[in-house]
Amino acid sequence: MDMLKKVPVKEQAPEVRAKNFEEVCLGYDEQEAVMEAGRCLNCKKPFCVGGCPVNIDIPGFITKLKEGSIEEAYQIISKDSALPAVCGRVCPQESQCEGKCIRGIKGEPIAIGKLERFAADWARQRGIRPVKEAVHNGKKVAVIGSGPAGLTCAGDLARLGYQVTIFEALHQPGGVLVYGIPEFRLPKDEVVAKEIQNVMDLGVKIETNVIVGRSVTIDQLLDEEGFDAVFIGSGAGLPRFMGIPGENANGVFSANEYLTRSNLMKAFDESYDTPIFRGKKVAVVGGGNVAMDAARTALRFGAEVHIVYRRSEAELPARVEEVHHAKEEGIIFDLLTNPVEILVDDNGWVKGMTCVRMELGEPDDSGRRRPVVIEGSEFDLALDTVIMALGTSPNPLISDTTKGLDVNRWHCIIADEKNGKTTKEGVYAGGDAVTGAATVILAMGAGKQAAQGIDEYLRNK
Ligand SMILES: Cc1cc2nc3c(=O)[nH]c(=O)nc-3n(C[C@H](O)[C@H](O)[C@H](O)COP(=O)(O)OP(=O)(O)OC[C@H]3O[C@@H](n4cnc5c(N)ncnc54)[C@H](O)[C@@H]3O)c2cc1C
Ligand code: SF4
Repeated sequence: MDMLKKVPVKEQAPEVRAKNFEEVCLGYDEQEAVMEAGRCLNCKKPFCVGGCPVNIDIPGFITKLKEGSIEEAYQIISKDSALPAVCGRVCPQESQCEGKCIRGIKGEPIAIGKLERFAADWARQRGIRPVKEAVHNGKKVAVIGSGPAGLTCAGDLARLGYQVTIFEALHQPGGVLVYGIPEFRLPKDEVVAKEIQNVMDLGVKIETNVIVGRSVTIDQLLDEEGFDAVFIGSGAGLPRFMGIPGENANGVFSANEYLTRSNLMKAFDESYDTPIFRGKKVAVVGGGNVAMDAARTALRFGAEVHIVYRRSEAELPARVEEVHHAKEEGIIFDLLTNPVEILVDDNGWVKGMTCVRMELGEPDDSGRRRPVVIEGSEFDLALDTVIMALGTSPNPLISDTTKGLDVNRWHCIIADEKNGKTTKEGVYAGGDAVTGAATVILAMGAGKQAAQGIDEYLRNK
């Protein structure tokens, strides 16, 4: 075995998986996991832990895997993470724990994500649950939203003895984990639903089909429903558009709508009636995880798919693994390209898109080189579908209906990074609702901090 390289992980072959919605990555088996764990140096100063927003004891759990004590490895992870099988699949480990791993200096870092996934899958398949140690303290907390931030905050508070109710607008809990990220990356029934059940087994109640701001307000939860504190983890579900001519044509979708139809409403499954537009030639505008997911979904519905992104490959914000998988499956990357108009036929349907070529200039506020239009570079792409994956922002419904809750100019709730405290007493917030669209593990980290903040507030109240 080459100790400088990760033990390779099995995947469905690109030409096979491009035609189905089953999971792409098949994960390690026990022997492979133990071999990979054997590469870990069990560092005295484990930089990997500093790279993890929820501070999982990474060398601790890997050492248990090395010894073959898989259940103990799982319990170590579960102390700090409510969603290990999810995170093992979707976290951008290359810029977090694995990006800090000492093994990565001379060779490939330890495959921490794949090991976390192995331990969580192994435990789930054997019905092993996180250890529950709570004694009720008689206090009630409401959590708004059942995405990674809300689930983490709720789970941590339940472990501390609080009676927690999550209010979720949709008919199924999970947030982006169920409506955004596709089945071929994150199985819903087998993985997401089971990890949500683990949170519920800690005593957390989930009420679906409740839109806070419409069905009930935050003030009513605090003043009339007997909740002692509220955590807002309502995400950033409002899609952005470019504002270019033709964007209202038939055949233009937001990635959120397109993915929600396919994932939450199961349009990919023939036994469901959910309609979805199956284009023949599709452009997905954007370069993040959302763009990759929309593109790979459209490909599985039988289309030729182009990613249209205004910067170069080095700036693509999507996880490296997603870009690699998308390329293997045959997605065409039109980089340094920006749409300026969507071309519409006489019946109001998309027939193409006019684009311009870009080059990279000086770095902008984000530190990335600013794309600049190359004069006279306009060209047309013939298409029948355009999917906009340009980012999202928080829905203003909650802030508009809650007096004293301040937001910034992007409608993100203003909250203290250390403890999630907002400008309204007893109300805490975290995840995408505060930061704007970010990552699962950052939302979980914020949910954790807020649970500590709420606990401190209620103990001193
Ligand atoms: C398609 C897609 C792919 C992604 N891929 C990755 C990836 O690979 N890796 C990664 O780390 N991150 C990824 N992300 C980002 C990640 O999923 C989010 O950063 C994360 O889910 C944010 O968690 P959250 O709990 O803050 O919000 P969300 O997951 O958005 O959950 C918020 C929940 O609140 C509910 N809600 C909203 N308003 C109300 C209301 N008024 N009342 C009641 N409930 C309400 C929503 O219905 C939702 O269920 C992806 C995002 C998308 C859209
Ligand atoms: S930094 Fe890498 S090698 Fe060191 S303990 Fe963490 S995972 Fe193991």
